[in-house]
Amino acid sequence: MQAVTVENNPTKIAKRELIKAVAVIPGKPNTIHLREVPKPAVSDVPNGRGVLVKILRVGVDGTDKEISAAEYGAAPAGDDYLIVGHESFGVVEEVGPNVSEFKPGDYVSLTVRRPGSSLYDTIGTYDMTTDDTYFERGINLRHGFLTEYIVDEPKYIIRVPENMKEVGVLMEPMSVAQKAIEQAYRIQQRLRVWHPKRAAVMGSGTLGLLATLVLRLRGLDVTTFGNTMPPTLNSSLIEELGARYISTKQVSLTDASTKHGPFDLILEGTGYSPLVFEAMNVLAKNGVLAMVSVTGGSRRIEVPADRINLGFVLGNKVAFGSVNANREYFESGVKDLSTAELQYPGWLRKLLTHPVKGLESYAEMMRILTEAKGSIKVYCQVAAIESSQTSAAAI
Ligand code: BGC
Ligand code: ZN
Repeated sequence: MQAVTVENNPTKIAKRELIKAVAVIPGKPNTIHLREVPKPAVSDVPNGRGVLVKILRVGVDGTDKEISAAEYGAAPAGDDYLIVGHESFGVVEEVGPNVSEFKPGDYVSLTVRRPGSSLYDTIGTYDMTTDDTYFERGINLRHGFLTEYIVDEPKYIIRVPENMKEVGVLMEPMSVAQKAIEQAYRIQQRLRVWHPKRAAVMGSGTLGLLATLVLRLRGLDVTTFGNTMPPTLNSSLIEELGARYISTKQVSLTDASTKHGPFDLILEGTGYSPLVFEAMNVLAKNGVLAMVSVTGGSRRIEVPADRINLGFVLGNKVAFGSVNANREYFESGVKDLSTAELQYPGWLRKLLTHPVKGLESYAEMMRILTEAKGSIKVYCQVAAIESSQTSAAAI
């Protein structure tokens, strides 16, 4: 095996094995490529607190599309490339001497954000940073997970129960749905009683499906909107949860809300920002609107400003934005994933529509991500989930 000299510490110069990684040159479109990088080591994290994770699966989404098109993303300082991938699932291979939280064989997923310097960052809520610069593994200024091994600190790593290993790659998108919904409920503590009955989810991709699931687990009547005509896999998955699918090609949110609303909670995650204003308009009195779409464009529209404003004032409505997630939402996410597996057995697995084998298939993966019709979760099988890991953990 080839080796390279790395200076990870001025006093220690180690020969490192090289591993494969999928990276882009941020700022230059369509530069996604396979490269060799030094294998990380537990000693890269100070105080014996390193955890070496062998990556098993990494999911890709719209953010990866934007990064590949050079519309988003930045390389870590000192590098001209960014290792992509922020939806992680792996198995612990080695831990530093002062790690008691994990042991080799544990299945895990990692948070995406890393702290900056604001007060919110220092208390573990780095997803609420007020800094202008934010650090996100695989997205902004930090290398991601589309590689063979990564090292990190225990506080960014969440255990996934072994019997959830087949769907563990859904942890990151699940955490985004969890945060938005959990924050909505916390905001609603402003009301002395809030018993939401009807919810609308705008978007029926991975995030919309997971948000529908979370809201169904909380017992709401959920209407989920997509822009494709049913029946599709997405529409049937929604119906399997006892929720309702509506194509905005047939019925608008406004029309649907007369029949199935008013919606006490609306989650907008389509990436089409005009829907936010339509949602504001139809939101129930005392209702809450969660916005989770990252819209990098510069779209402008005309809105009924007086009407929306009046409705918000007279109806005591709230709209808020929600980005990313800290470990708290990964932890609640893994609980909901487990409950879902009991309540709707096999449902989560059906989201994993497009596996792509091996890091070397990155071009195929991006092609599927951009072109495939009917895909829900596209993901890279970086390494096989071996049954020996199962038995080793069980013994
Ligand atoms: C990721 C989030 C991230 C956001 C903006 C999304 O695709 O899932 O973790 O905060 O992009 O960078
Ligand atoms: Zn994402």
